[in-house]
Formats: sequence, structure tokens, C-alpha cells
Amino acid sequence: ACSDGDEEQVSGAEVIAQALKTQDVEYMFGIVGIPVTEIAVAAQKMGIRYVGMRNEQAACYAASAIGYLTGRPGVCLVVSGPGLIHALGGMANANMNCWPLIVIGGSSERSQETMGAFQEFPQAVRSSIYGRPGACYVDIPADFVNLQVNVNSVRYMECCMPPPVSIAETSAICMAATVIRNAKKPLLIIGKGAAYARAEEGIRKLVERCKLPFLPTPMGKGVIPDNHPNCVAAARSRALQFADVIVLFGARLNWILHFGLPPRYQPDVKFIQVDICAEELGNNVKPAVTLLGDINAVTKQELASQKSLPMNYYTVFYHVQEQLPRDCFVVSEGANTMDIGRTVLQNYLPRHRLDAGTFGTMGVGLGFAIAAALLAKARNTGQRVICVEGDSAFGFSGMEVETICRYNLPIILLVVNNNGIYQGFDVDSWKEMLKFGDATAVAPPVCLLPNSHYEQVMTAFGGKGYFVQTPEELQKSLRESLADTTAPSLINIMIEPQATRKAQDFHWLTRSK
Ligand code: ADP
Ligand code: MG
Repeated sequence: ACSDGDEEQVSGAEVIAQALKTQDVEYMFGIVGIPVTEIAVAAQKMGIRYVGMRNEQAACYAASAIGYLTGRPGVCLVVSGPGLIHALGGMANANMNCWPLIVIGGSSERSQETMGAFQEFPQAVRSSIYGRPGACYVDIPADFVNLQVNVNSVRYMECCMPPPVSIAETSAICMAATVIRNAKKPLLIIGKGAAYARAEEGIRKLVERCKLPFLPTPMGKGVIPDNHPNCVAAARSRALQFADVIVLFGARLNWILHFGLPPRYQPDVKFIQVDICAEELGNNVKPAVTLLGDINAVTKQELASQKSLPMNYYTVFYHVQEQLPRDCFVVSEGANTMDIGRTVLQNYLPRHRLDAGTFGTMGVGLGFAIAAALLAKARNTGQRVICVEGDSAFGFSGMEVETICRYNLPIILLVVNNNGIYQGFDVDSWKEMLKFGDATAVAPPVCLLPNSHYEQVMTAFGGKGYFVQTPEELQKSLRESLADTTAPSLINIMIEPQATRKAQDFHWLTRSK
């Protein structure tokens, strides 16, 4: 652009500085020299902080760390030739780390065809932060820096938007949820990709809700604090070696993670990879599930899908234990319900747990609960009785609910309902099965009628009944039941029909030497 008399002039350097400012660049690191000194001066005038370093490599490291920490690229300013060569180390490091960075170098005079560097900035910013983040180089022709142009002849491109957020395929999300749920020894590995994605809140929820142990990589440290009870960093080698399912949140299976191969891992370990870069998926190992998308968004998808899955024993007892008063009586019977419940539900007082006992009797629970509630009433202790029943166990003495209601005992009955003895079928499988014959011929003897509304046994006699399928419904109904100190209630808790307890490890019994 030619200058004409009275119009305000602006230099190439000022145009560059303004273009960077327009792209929200806050920091510039570098070493000046011909032809880039004026760019640093102009940037400073524009309010960009300029940090003069002693070697372009260090300047580049600094600029890339700004990119990692803020999600917008830092700029590294270098001279042509040796300046740019020195910067290469920093550019390579930024690329390997997947950190956004813009390097601006001065070069020889521009040829006629060049568009002018300021027009390249939106592209440079975009390619440094979109997709997998990395380094970007913008070459500034030497004569451009000091060229004077008419201020009104310059147009700046709008600030480049933050990267569009991509989410993973729904079917892959469901598959990942199932693989995690069926894992016996799951492990979450949190990498610097998760840190860059600012996914801390979602990942923390996932860890806590699904009770997942996690291991941070060196720069994944702090996404969830190191002192979190689920952090297994102290047993890193063991955690890697024995996990049967590993979820990689923004961490690559490179040398830092021993390439994901035996003997550091189980030969049949299932990897679930979450990454924004498609080329990364399947690197070194064949993953069980790949989730291509932004970690923060994928974590939220995963959380939503976990919520829609049926509860299992551990989820149920976890939420029950959270609300149980310390002085309550716990009465329990059933198979898995009693066994797993015993490991999660806490007792703080002697003679406050009654269960199937020495004889392993089913059907004792409601009688025991009535006795405990009568004593609490007579002694006026205000203690509650929580009766945790499997659906099959409840069947043996279910009609005692009438007794409970007749004497108005504020017992809380929890029926942990898996549609069967030990295990049952869901409604669809049940219906499907009946196509092959009469239930007496085809139904596994352990099955009970699916989705039975046992809570209606309670409402039939005037007590409160709840049918719950989600943790939220369970929490709410239990809170209401505990708050009501006068009336009995029954919470019918639907869990996954095939849910079982975690496999036991009897290695000390079977080991030969
Ligand atoms: P670490 O050194 O902590 O193991 P890596 O550098 O090996 O971490 O892996 C980081 C991974 O995170 C890269 O594969 C990169 O593509 C990915 N990544 C970066 N940002 C995101 C994001 N927003 N969402 C998903 N993956 C991301
Ligand atoms: Mg890694």
C-alpha cells in the first residue's frame, strides 16, 4: 500500500504487533536483531509483554509453556538463520508435547508474490491450537518490518475462535462404559492432554462416582490432587502391571508409559484411548475402544452414559452408607446383598447387626427388624432400623410388612432387586426367553419375575413405597425415609440383573511354591 500525504502511517512492525494483539497474544519471548527488533518494540507498545531471553531455544520453551498453560499460543520472536535454527529445539519440543506455539522469524526481502505476514497470523494461531496443538512458524520478510503503510489500508482478521469442541461417537461411549463397568482392576491414566483440556472437574467426578483408581503421568499430576485417596502413584508399577482395563486420558503409550507392552502390562490388558488426534489412536497397541474427541467433552459424555446404566451392588451400598446414622440397627439377608453389604455398610455399635446368621437362614430379616424397632421404641432412643433385603430374601417374609404397618414401626426396608436369586434377567431377556416355551420349561430356576414392584406391598398397608433406578432417586428416597421418624417405608432398588461381586483372589491358597 502506498502512502499519501496527510493520512496516518503505520509500519509493518506495528501491523504485525496489532495483528498479534488482535489474536489475543499476551506474551512474546525472543532475542532481537535485524530485522525483528522493531516488531518487539511495537509489540511492547501494543501492550504485549516482551521478555528478552538469552537463547532462542529457551525463549521457545517459555512461549510454548504459555501455550500449554493458557490454551492460546505464546509467541517466540527470532532472527533469521541461526536464530531460527536455535528455535528448532523449542519447536520440536512443543510439537512433541502437543503445545501451541507461534514462532516469528525475519527472513530476506519479500518477493512480489508474498501476501504479507500479518495475513498469516489467524492461520498460524488456528493451526497451533486447533486439532492436536503444536508449533507454527511465521516467516516475516525483512523489508516488511520497516515498510510504512496507510493505517486505514490495513485490515486485521478477527481474533481466532477457541477450537471447536469435538465429541466421541455415542456407540463408542457406551462400549467404553461397559468395558469400564466390567473391569476387575480398572486404571485411569491422566496425561498432560487432560491437563491441557482443563478436564479436571469431569475426570474427578468420573473417578469418584465409579471409584476408579488413577495414575497421573509426570505432567498429568495435579489434574486430580496427588493426595486423593484413589491416586495409586505410590504403586505405579504394580498398578500398570495388573490393570485389566486402562483408560488413557490424553496420554500416549510412548516410552514414558513403557509403550503399553508386556512385561510392564498384562498381555491382554484392554486400553480405552481418549485423544483429540485420530492418528494417535491405536499407536503401539490395539485399543479395545477409541474415543476420538476433546477430553473434557468426552468425560462429560461418559459421565452421562454412566448415569443411565443400571446401578450395581457397590453403587447402591455406597449411597446407602453415606446416609446411614451411626447408631442405626442394620438387619440384612440375601446372598450377594448380604455379602457385599457387609463389606460396605459400617457398624459402630455392638449388637446392632442382625443377619442370616450361623444357619444361613433366609426370611429372618423382617422379624429381626420388628424386634429391633420395638426395642428402640420402648427405650426411646430414636434409633432407626435399616433392613437390607435381597429381592429373593424379602419374599420369604414379605407379608410381615403388614405387621410393621399395623404397629407403625418406622423401619426402612431396602429391597435390592436384581430380579432373581443370585442373578436374574432384565424384562427384555425375560420376554425373549418366553418365546421359546413356558417359563417352567425355559426359565432358569434362579429367575424371579423381572421389575416386580415390591414397594407396593408397603403402600398396600399405608406405608411409603419408592421404586428407584438411579443414584439420585435412591439418595432422595432414603433421605425422605430417614426424615420421617413415624412411618415405615420400603425402597425397591432396581440394580443390574447380572451384577455380581468382584472376583476373589485366592492366590495364597493356590500358589504351589
Ligand atoms: P503425557 O506425557 O502426560 O503422557 P502425552 O503428551 O503423551 O501426555 O499425550 C497427550 C495427548 O493429549 C496427545 O496425544 C494429544 O493429542 C492429546 N490432547 C491434547 N489436547 C487434547 C484435548 N483437548 N482433548 C483430547 N486430547 C488432547
Ligand atoms: Mg504419554
